[in-house]
Amino acid sequence: MTSLARQVADLGASLFHRRLTHGRTGNISARTGDTFLITPTGGSLGTVTPGALSVVDLAGKHLDGPRPSKEAFLHAALYRARPDAGAVVHLHSTHAVAVSCHDGLDPEDVLPPLTAYYVMRVGRLPLLPYHAPGDPALGPLAERAARTAHALLLANHGPIVAGAGLAAAADAIEELEETARLWLLLRDRPVRPLTPGQVRSLS
Ligand code: ZN
Repeated sequence: MTSLARQVADLGASLFHRRLTHGRTGNISARTGDTFLITPTGGSLGTVTPGALSVVDLAGKHLDGPRPSKEAFLHAALYRARPDAGAVVHLHSTHAVAVSCHDGLDPEDVLPPLTAYYVMRVGRLPLLPYHAPGDPALGPLAERAARTAHALLLANHGPIVAGAGLAAAADAIEELEETARLWLLLRDRPVRPLTPGQVRSLS
């Protein structure tokens, strides 16, 4: 438990100091059986400490520690949908948020398969409709979408990604952010994404 808490804190500091989320945005959780550790509300990921994490159950109920992030219910929804998930990371990373504000996105799959690493680490990226921060109505939508996709983009908000563990979730959300950046760089040019055959060969 202690070492998992240390890993959550270290990842928070790493993501924050590389400007992958800012201010007091973003939250990180790691599952421990039927509960998960999650970063608390009102703090910066840059300064979170292993002893100051909240414990929440898979129904989203706060069990121990400081008051959890008000987005803990989204983490619970992803864990319920994905029994194999050991960690969830949510960021307000600039380029992914920029994409989430675009009009005319395909809600079933937001970004094209620009690179092999995007296909392997993210895959399909559904878009969930805008809800105000903390609105529990987003929970059931996230739970349903997460049954068939481990990465979701919240409209006008940011990405949330589940992974087998903290490293896998972090790899995926960083790949998503970099691919969002590429997509924005390429917006005014003809783009040749991977073909369906090339995508299939990666799975
Ligand atoms: Zn958020």
